[in-house]
Amino acid sequence: MTRGAGPPSGARGPERPGAGSPGSGSKLGPGVEFDLIRRFLGESSPERPAGELLGPGDDCAVVVGSGIALSTDMCVEDVHFRRAWLSSDEVGWRAASAALSDLAAVAARPIGVLVSCAFSPADAVEMAPSVMAGVRAATEAVGGVLLGGDLTRSPGPIVIDVTVVGETSRPIRRSGAAPGDEIWVTGALGGSAAALDALSRGDVPSPAARLRFARPLPRIRESLWLAELVRPGSMIDISDGLAGDAGHIAAASGVAMVLEADAVPVDPAAAVGRAYPDAIRLALEAGEDYELCFTVTAGSMDGLLQRFEEEMGIAVRRVGRVEEGTGVHLVGPDGRRRLERGGFQHFGAAS
Ligand SMILES: [Mg+2]
Repeated sequence: MTRGAGPPSGARGPERPGAGSPGSGSKLGPGVEFDLIRRFLGESSPERPAGELLGPGDDCAVVVGSGIALSTDMCVEDVHFRRAWLSSDEVGWRAASAALSDLAAVAARPIGVLVSCAFSPADAVEMAPSVMAGVRAATEAVGGVLLGGDLTRSPGPIVIDVTVVGETSRPIRRSGAAPGDEIWVTGALGGSAAALDALSRGDVPSPAARLRFARPLPRIRESLWLAELVRPGSMIDISDGLAGDAGHIAAASGVAMVLEADAVPVDPAAAVGRAYPDAIRLALEAGEDYELCFTVTAGSMDGLLQRFEEEMGIAVRRVGRVEEGTGVHLVGPDGRRRLERGGFQHFGAAS
């Protein structure tokens, strides 16, 4: 582990049980997709030697001895994108960035990516080179390299499956949030969804919104900075919406995540043309912003907020607090309510 996240030097005290400690996988939040994953794991997960692996249940599996972090993310045409909405290299950039974001979630430094693609014969000639150029550019933008992959024929839709490889000496898990902690979010939320909303209606998204949708930047630098200086107790990348992804921290940590509606950082691109509840809903429920949600002991960020924003060039905001209990709750002008449905649902509404 020559390039791990480094030792903590910040305000956080001793690690809590489950926070970065080896052991069994974390619990997942609600949703049909995650019900299916729970079934797979229940049927097939063998006992592993204690301390050998982290996962499944976090954003990456981590081989503890080597610090190697691994994750995979698939991108399917007409499920995750439409070719009319993106250039070929943007298709590749998005697919790679979505996968690389899971390295940010556990504070792993990227080594590289392996990419399996399926194209129709015509697309293989016309699109595959620029799709792969996009994959390579996104990977190199965060310090990784293209390690290899596979190319096969598709009967129609483009499929891009990206496996990311990173390294971390001390992965940050979803299971280390504790009552009393603060919940923080990097950047702003809802911009990608605003572009998707416009594109779905046949409108032209604003340039700022389109950039968030077409060229998301995984928060690798930010994650490594936080791991070094603040040492969050828990962290996740926001791929399916803050409400849903905070729900995974809640489930894994056995706590309630209480979000304050007024504090949720709504992307200006999402706020344009939307009244208060709709903009907040978009920021909470829509995915693919690839920002980070993390928890810290109260006050840990107080002396570091300005430095983070100056060095990283993006905002970071406290959006709520961790309490005893379960689930995700939203406190707004109309009171407090539990958010029963999480973020984006790949297989319909949560049961
Ligand atoms: Mg993730």
